Amino acid sequence: MPHSPEHPERVELDPTVVEGFRATFLQRYDCYPRQLPQGSYVCVKQPLTTRLLHDHLRGKVTLGAYALDAQSMAQWLCLDADAETQWLEVLKLAGFLAAEGIAAYLETSRRGGHLWLFTPPLTGRDMRRFGKQLVAAYGLSPSLELYPKQDLLKTGPGSLVRLPLGIHRKSGKRYPFIQLDGTPLAPTIREQVALLGSPQRVPQDFIEQVLAEIPHEEPETVELPAIDPMTLSPADGKYLSERLKATISVWDFVSRYVDLDAQGRGFCPFHDDHHKSFGVNARANYWHCWAGCGGGSIIDFWMKLRAARGLDDSFTATITELAQLLFPG
Ligand SMILES: [Zn+2]
Repeated sequence: MPHSPEHPERVELDPTVVEGFRATFLQRYDCYPRQLPQGSYVCVKQPLTTRLLHDHLRGKVTLGAYALDAQSMAQWLCLDADAETQWLEVLKLAGFLAAEGIAAYLETSRRGGHLWLFTPPLTGRDMRRFGKQLVAAYGLSPSLELYPKQDLLKTGPGSLVRLPLGIHRKSGKRYPFIQLDGTPLAPTIREQVALLGSPQRVPQDFIEQVLAEIPHEEPETVELPAIDPMTLSPADGKYLSERLKATISVWDFVSRYVDLDAQGRGFCPFHDDHHKSFGVNARANYWHCWAGCGGGSIIDFWMKLRAARGLDDSFTATITELAQLLFPG
């Protein structure tokens, strides 16, 4: 196919490219923030359609991206530098991260810019702990704004950032992504959209390393939803299961029930085991039975144990009992 030069004003996009861009930045599709001419946003309580995304990238409307989904999960962290000095700090952080092999995406803006880090799904709380610890560890100003701004959604859809590569309604400009040396991330907006559709994510290992450096934290005081297995909605269930897994490591939990040696090996509680077929990988945080009983998280472990005891081993019954065990009172 002959290569045709791209007209600078027109951003014609492949639907799969737009879908990738949407999956990178958008956490929820049931409502969306729309920028008003003065620069503020309103929440439109209508589904976010692909058509709207095309309109955003063409500059007809400007959308925002909520930082948390309805279950308070996040998949990006955004540092907002709204002054030149903060922008220099953010560039410094991007440089440090690049030296560690971590890709930080730099987006210019009206006064400074945004640094985006794309991650595997994390709770809003962990994403913020990760962000705050990065800011502290690299000596950046604590006044830098972090998105998501909430650990947990209580009312409304929470904090948002302008969805990149649209036109800012107030300045009338489009702000591209750049590399550390100031050159564009990719020569055209179309190519930038495509690149952002499959961003390099921060490895889980690095996130855990940063979280482990947090010196001291107050005990968690997150309010849990009231648990009634008959009325637990899928959204509450997903939220609760994430909270359970974040509360205790697989090693700490499983070793209450299985005698593990220093290598994490033990006799499998799920079959008649004489060979220590069972093991916990502390680093990767999962258990496994080499004789075929399966493996996974603490929820998978508890589900299996309930089944072995002849109890209801449904997901809801399992997480309900686990919640009572791990969050008593
Ligand atoms: Zn087994």
